[in-house]
Amino acid sequence: MAIIVHKYGGTSMGSPERIKNVARRVAKWHRAGHQMLVVVSAMSGETNRLLALAKEISPNPSPRELDVIASTGEQVSMGLLALALHELGVDAISFNGSQVAVHTDSSHTKARIESIDGERIHSELDAGKVVIVAGFQGRDADGNVTTLGRGGSDTSAVALAVAVGAQECLIFTDVDGVYTTDPRIEPRAARLDAISFEEMLELASLGSKVLQIRSVEFAGKYRMPMRVLSSLTDPDLPVEEEAVSGTLISFEDDPNMEKALVSGIACTRDEAKITLAQVPDTPGVAYKILGPIAEANIDVDMIVQNVSHAGTTDFTFTVAKGDLTRALLVLEKDVVPVVKAKEVATSTEIAKVSCVGIGMRTHANVAARIFNALAKEGINIQMIGTSEIKVSLVIEDKYMELAVRALHQAFGLNKE
Ligand code: ASP
Ligand code: MG
Repeated sequence: MAIIVHKYGGTSMGSPERIKNVARRVAKWHRAGHQMLVVVSAMSGETNRLLALAKEISPNPSPRELDVIASTGEQVSMGLLALALHELGVDAISFNGSQVAVHTDSSHTKARIESIDGERIHSELDAGKVVIVAGFQGRDADGNVTTLGRGGSDTSAVALAVAVGAQECLIFTDVDGVYTTDPRIEPRAARLDAISFEEMLELASLGSKVLQIRSVEFAGKYRMPMRVLSSLTDPDLPVEEEAVSGTLISFEDDPNMEKALVSGIACTRDEAKITLAQVPDTPGVAYKILGPIAEANIDVDMIVQNVSHAGTTDFTFTVAKGDLTRALLVLEKDVVPVVKAKEVATSTEIAKVSCVGIGMRTHANVAARIFNALAKEGINIQMIGTSEIKVSLVIEDKYMELAVRALHQAFGLNKE
């Protein structure tokens, strides 16, 4: 009998009514003959509420105690779901992260899973029970409670699926899958039946909120198939139908998967641009600029350096908007005096639009098509960054939606 993992997020577990629906869905899969391992999030809003409570007591709370507090949201959910299953006559048992030996490192509030001992889960599954495990949490080597970072239940689900050798990990959420772009920007965005791990990884790192990026990394590393699907459909939908709904996150070498030139378009207004004007065009300058930035733990995303004029060049890069003030302080103190930049200019009025598709590997003209689509709309491109399967552009932020729609159209992604 195959083990199937279901993960239900905060919205899916958001009220007693919804928890009862989750129970109906899980019971249906159980009755269809699957061994069911269910990973749950806290009820929506609960983790925020718990963290806010902690902040009311202490403005600078100990991370260890924050984990003790934040991890309780998932424990409530798991118990409620077990009760809801009992009400349907299904034998179910819940465990927190420690109880099923989810071992993590000791970085409180952002711990990484190191190992999981699936023995206890297997014995309960073999006894015919539905096993429910609290997501988002584990324990370190000293037995302290840890949490995995916001949105961490996705990663718990995939890690548990790997640990017990599940056939597939189904992530039930409040959207019915992964879309070609944000449907709020382009109503003709289409749901993808399948997307490769690599594309999903790029989209997650570009700000798609559907899955925590670490869960996708984990799934890719252990080749665990994942599916994103809605928990808001009729809970009595036949299992065979539900099993193929949503978006499958699949392997590139899957012969059934079409290698789209562009599968998805992501966009964000979360970055700010910094330009150091007229820095010397000599070896080591990029390091002198970005070294101190890296030391301050500030992530740099896009980088552009122009050809030099009379021995100097402009050096431009982007950081998260939230890091801008800190980045400027570092530049002022440790960089400008060293590289003697003429000026430091910043802009927060930028947006990054990215096209992702594994078909780019084998087709050379993607960038040209992107530039053509934007040229037709009169949109100026400020920066360009590429990887094997991605082209990212920085443009003026007021054109973001227009750019997304133009690219969506140019790559034939509009739903008929
Ligand atoms: N409850 C946690 C959060 O809100 C974990 C999760 O939902 O995945 O971040
Ligand atoms: Mg989530």
